[in-house]
Amino acid sequence: MSRVINFSAGPAVLPESVLREAAEEMPDWHGSGMSVMEMSHRGKEFIAIHAEAESLLRELLAIPKNYKVLFMQGGAIGENAIVPMNLLRGKASADYIHTGEWSKKSIAEAKRYAKVNVAASAEASRFTCVPPRESWRLDPDAAYVHICSNETIGGVEYHFTPDTGSVPLVADMSSNILSRPIDVARYGLIYAGAQKNIGPAGLTIVIVREDLIGQAHPFTPSAFDYKQQADSDSMLNTPPTYAIYIAGLVFHWIKARGGLAAMAERNRAKAAVLYDYLEQSALYSNPVARADRSLMNVPFRLKDEALDDAFLSGAQARGMAQLKGHRSVGGMRASIYNAMPIEGVQALVAYMKEFEAQHV
Ligand SMILES: *Cc1c(COP(=O)(O)O)cnc(C)c1O
Repeated sequence: MSRVINFSAGPAVLPESVLREAAEEMPDWHGSGMSVMEMSHRGKEFIAIHAEAESLLRELLAIPKNYKVLFMQGGAIGENAIVPMNLLRGKASADYIHTGEWSKKSIAEAKRYAKVNVAASAEASRFTCVPPRESWRLDPDAAYVHICSNETIGGVEYHFTPDTGSVPLVADMSSNILSRPIDVARYGLIYAGAQKNIGPAGLTIVIVREDLIGQAHPFTPSAFDYKQQADSDSMLNTPPTYAIYIAGLVFHWIKARGGLAAMAERNRAKAAVLYDYLEQSALYSNPVARADRSLMNVPFRLKDEALDDAFLSGAQARGMAQLKGHRSVGGMRASIYNAMPIEGVQALVAYMKEFEAQHV
């Protein structure tokens, strides 16, 4: 067996030990005589798997008691609609901060349900920074303020939690959840597709403050009504059982490595290897403002885009996969989520140096 060094933006690399554990347990989970995939979601085995995954996630993020954890489906793109359906609560409008491709999608979708006020935008900088909090024009009557805490395509990340007063802060954390400790109490709602930093695609995590739910618009599908899902322990319909099981194994893996503070330290060290090199390179560049650079997704360009194909095929030959940048921006992108070991980043930088020596 040989595994590539996988820089995919998502679905993304998982810890190899988790994959092995899942493989071992695949046909017969803990003597049940069944695969997790074959279990009733209402049977005692799966209820235990589900409860443990939730309790580990609560422990890792120190989620306060007055927050519900929901295991849903529909992805972050689904949440772009599900959030306004549930959180407008009779209000007319919501504030959105525009920092790139993913917040653009959130804004476009929300416009189908609400009046959207773009309270700040990084467009003038070509989405290479987070607009400073002082520049946001927030509406005190907004139903919520929406941010994308890490722009997976542009490589722009919030390294602060914006204060939005009494208006609930909503964050799409798909690509940086569990990468560092956060203060959940400063958010009204957090959502994340699992396939970047947690587990398989198909599971969406929602963490929501209890007092914000229960006023969904009447047209909201029952499966997407936070209150109905909360009241039925995320089992209003069949949840993505196997994805929840793998997520639980990943939560264990994080806990065993020291939790989110340890993840944050590793992630800072990993990103520094790459950014320090980019900083002094004559061949590669990253356009993002230093203070707002993502520790999870590092986009970079070669000075001459005619070299892109040679760069990618050399990487492939060295066992490094999925470095091609998003189709909307071109160039390269190295996604270095929790499960990417520092050795993977060091191997990438060693190759980049070698390639630079040949081409400048
Ligand atoms: C990947 C990603 C999405 C898309 O999520 P889906 O699960 O495909 O719906 C949305 N937002 C961010 C920040 C992402 O990284």
